[in-house]
Amino acid sequence: MPERDKNKQDGPDIRSNLIKVNVGGDTLFVDSNQYRLKRRKAKYIDTKQRHPKNPKPQEWISEKYSQHKIADYKPFNFVDGEGVRCSLYVSGCLFDCPGCYNLAAQNFNYGMPYTQELEDKIIADIAQPYVQGLTLLGGEPFLNTWVCLKLINRMRKEFGHDKDIWSWSGYTWDELQLETDDKKEMLSKIDILVDGRFLDPLKDLTLQFRGSSNQRIIDVQKSFAAGHVVIWDKLVR
Ligand code: SF4
Repeated sequence: MPERDKNKQDGPDIRSNLIKVNVGGDTLFVDSNQYRLKRRKAKYIDTKQRHPKNPKPQEWISEKYSQHKIADYKPFNFVDGEGVRCSLYVSGCLFDCPGCYNLAAQNFNYGMPYTQELEDKIIADIAQPYVQGLTLLGGEPFLNTWVCLKLINRMRKEFGHDKDIWSWSGYTWDELQLETDDKKEMLSKIDILVDGRFLDPLKDLTLQFRGSSNQRIIDVQKSFAAGHVVIWDKLVR
C-alpha cells in the first residue's frame, strides 16, 4: 500500500476558489466570490454616492489640460444625433461623472494626436451627400477647444451651413455663458448642444441621445436669438 501524502488533506481543495490579490505590496489569497461581491458593492456605492465635479466659472482652461488628442473617430454612424453623422471623440474630461459611459476618454493623454491627415479624412467623409453633419463628443469637447474650433472653422469654410454640428458637453448652457472666450466662441458656432453632466440617479435609457433626464438637447442658434434656452424642435422624448 502506497505511503499517504502527509501534505494532502481530505475534503475539497479550497485553493481552487482563491485568488491572489496585492495589498500594499503583500500577496494575499482571498475567497474569489466574496472579493468580487465586495468590489461590485464598492463600485455600486461609489456610483450612487459620488457626484460629478462642479467647476467655478473659468476654472478649467482648455489649453491647460488639452493634449489635442482623439479617443476615437467614427464615420457614418446613426446614433450620435440626427441623420448619418461623423463623430469625433476628443480625449479628456474633468467632470468625473459616476457611471460615465466613456471612462477611458476622461484621460487627456488617451488615444492618438489630432492630425491634419485625420482632419482631411473627416472633411472628406462629411462631404458625402448622405452625411448630415459632424458630432463632437468625448471626453469633453469644451476642454478641447483648439481641436474642436479648428475642425468647426474648416467645416464652415468647406460646407457653410449645409451640414450641421452637434456637440455634447458636461457643462450646462448657463455655465457656458460664464465661461472663457474659446468656449463661448465654440458654442456660438455649433447648431445643437446636448448639455449637462451624466447623473446616474436620473439615468434613463429611453431618452433620445441622452443618458440622464437632466440633460437637454438645445437648439443653439434659436436659443441665442430668443435669449433663453430653446429645446430642439424634433425632440420626441
Ligand atoms: S461629462 Fe461625459 S465624458 Fe465627462 S465624465 Fe461626465 S459622462 Fe464622462
